[in-house]
Formats: sequence, C-alpha cells, structure tokens
Amino acid sequence: MIRTPIYFDNNATTPTDPRVVEAMLPYFTEHFGNAASQTHSFGWTAQQAVETARKAIAAAINASPREIVFTSGATESDNLAIKGVSEAYADRGSHIVTVQTEHKAILDSCKHLEKHGFQVTYLPPEPDGLLDLNRLADAITEKTILVSVMQANNEIGVVQDIAAIGALCRERGVLFHTDASQSLGKVPLDVEAMHIDLASFTAHKLYGPKGIGALYVRRRDPQVNLAIQMDGGGHERGFRSGTLNVTGIVGFGKAVEICMQEREQETARLVHLRDRLKRGLQSALPNVCVNGHETQRLPGNLNVSFHGVVSDSLMMGLSDVALSSGSACSSGSLAPSYVLKALGLREETALSAIRFGLGRFNTEEEVDYVIGRCVEVVRRLRALSPLVEE
Ligand SMILES: *Cc1c(COP(=O)(O)O)cnc(C)c1O
Repeated sequence: MIRTPIYFDNNATTPTDPRVVEAMLPYFTEHFGNAASQTHSFGWTAQQAVETARKAIAAAINASPREIVFTSGATESDNLAIKGVSEAYADRGSHIVTVQTEHKAILDSCKHLEKHGFQVTYLPPEPDGLLDLNRLADAITEKTILVSVMQANNEIGVVQDIAAIGALCRERGVLFHTDASQSLGKVPLDVEAMHIDLASFTAHKLYGPKGIGALYVRRRDPQVNLAIQMDGGGHERGFRSGTLNVTGIVGFGKAVEICMQEREQETARLVHLRDRLKRGLQSALPNVCVNGHETQRLPGNLNVSFHGVVSDSLMMGLSDVALSSGSACSSGSLAPSYVLKALGLREETALSAIRFGLGRFNTEEEVDYVIGRCVEVVRRLRALSPLVEE
C-alpha cells in the first residue's frame, strides 16, 4: 500500500530523521543550559554536546573542530562568507567570481556588494551545468579576492569538480568558498584535499532540523579572516554572536554522523531509484530530457523537461506527489528558473521542467507509483496540447 501524499522534494528540505529527533529531545528539557554559561553544570553539559557535534561535522569534512562556526543555516553562512571575506579583504582587491547557477543567498549577497563598490563576475555554466575551468581561470584577475562555486546545485543536482576549482584558486592565491548545502553527507567533501577555504552547510537538507547550519572557516594555510556580520557576545570565535542553538546543533551533529555512516549504501540505493525513475519515464514517454549532467549529479536528484507540458499543469495533475519545478525559493513564480535559463535551455523547455528529489525515506514502490501517475498525466496534457505530436 502506498501512502499519499508522496514526498519527492528532498532538495527543498528533508524530514528530520527520528534518530536525530531522539538525540535532540533531552536538550530541550533536562539539558537546557546555555552553552556559554561556564559557572555551572547546566552550561558545561550543553557546551559538551555542542563540542561533540562540532567534532562530528569537522570530521566529516576533514577540518578541525575550531574551524566550524555555527549559524542559523546556509543563507546566513553564505552571507557571512561572501560579505565577511569581501569586507575583510577590501584592501587587497574588489573582485569576486561566482556562477550564474548559484543559490540566491550567494547571488544576492554579491548584488549587495556590487552596490558597495565591488565587481562581480557571474560565469555562465556549460549546457550540462558544469563550470569550464578555463573560463574560471580567465576570469580571475589581480583584483580577485574570492571565488564562490557551489558543490551541488539545488535544482539540477549537478556536482562541480570542487577539487580542481580549489586547486586553481590556491594556485592563483584567491580564497575559495563553496556552498555545500546540498552535498554534505552525500558527496565526498575534504577541505584539505580540495583546497577549500570556506564552506556553507545547513542541517535541514540532510535529515536534520531547520534553522541550524555552519560555516567552515580555514584557520591555517591560509588563515581566513572575516568581517563580522553579527555583533554581540563574541560567540563562535567572535565570528557569529548569539546564544547557541544547542538542540539544533545536537541534531545537526547526529544528522551528519548518520549520513557519514550510511553514505555508501544510501548512495547506491538512491542512484538505483533515480535511474529507475528516469528509465520508467523515458521508456513510457517520448521527448523527456534530463536537465544537467547525466551522471555528475547528486544521487537522488533528477530534473527533467516533459516537452510540451507546462510544469505547473503537471504538478497540479499530480496533487498526491510533492514535487517542484525549481528551487523552493522561486516556486510560485511563473517565470522560468534562472538556473535552467543559464544552461541555455529554451524558455519552453525550462517551463516544462520538474525536479524530482528522492531521499532517505523514499521507496521503490513510491518510484513506481510516481512513474505511473506522471505518465498518465503527461499523456493527458499532451493530448490536450495541439503543439505536440508524439
Ligand atoms: C537550501 C539551500 C540554501 C539555504 O539554506 P537555508 O538553511 O535554508 O538558509 C543555500 N544554498 C543551497 C545550495 C541550498 O540548497
């Protein structure tokens, strides 16, 4: 028996794993202390839990615990990284390089800086969503202080060659930030091997709670400095003041631990489900094309355009399946996704795109059910549309 509605929007957010909730619960009640209270055991217990989580997160990315700064999520981490670096290194240069397909938290932080005298290059990706390294190398100038390229895209799931980008930035003496919100716990990330100087994370994309995230800030070779964006009590090495969200941090740490333990098996399972979904759709329907690189993408992500079918109509017909046509932030607008437009897709193709985001709690039965429902609704809509011949 299939229980509906089915959740296939795991790139927007994920349910909190019950094991994560269980780990968090005591920190709401008996262990409610303020991690900054150093005069009694309530504070010490909270602080210990925070440090345990910090260690787990650092270990997952081959960093040192002291390089992890807790924030309210990836939006805040992106703001702190982009604005913090630019303001701190303004005497060295005023140029930033990023990519057109980045999350709005990056693009809008860059737009903010442009109003304050910085220059930003927004590189176009290749048609498969990958960044051409030669293009990046050409964009870096004497004035460049920061390159920001996400590891995995939230709409099309494309995973960039972060190691190559990091090596290039290191060679050119430019700081490198990556938004790894979608990839942490799903795709290998090693801040040393990949020469990453800053990285943004958020717990709610990896079966942790919402409202908690982190920024990795390199402490040596080179030590990264940040202009503080939140003044106050000087928490988190002064980088981010505010009473720590202890329950959230405990959940974040537990969520990362589970992902790391289960990653290999879970990747294989999701790739199997994703490929089954793709085959099921493409074998039953003509003119279904995959957006973004076919294989260099997140295990659970499939973004496809159903030629001749407007995605909003398809989603309306699939009311028992939670899907999205793009990022959660821009859903509800009728304009085609800026990410798909940056790939060079025709407006019509971009408007017919659906993002399938498979996650930990999805099953093969659900995949088969969604294939059946999709095929049925697409056939019906195409029959109504005079533009498409099958
Ligand atoms: C979800 C997401 C964000 C925003 O994270 P929040 O914690 O919701 O603020 C930023 N970047 C990417 C790539 C994301 O997927």
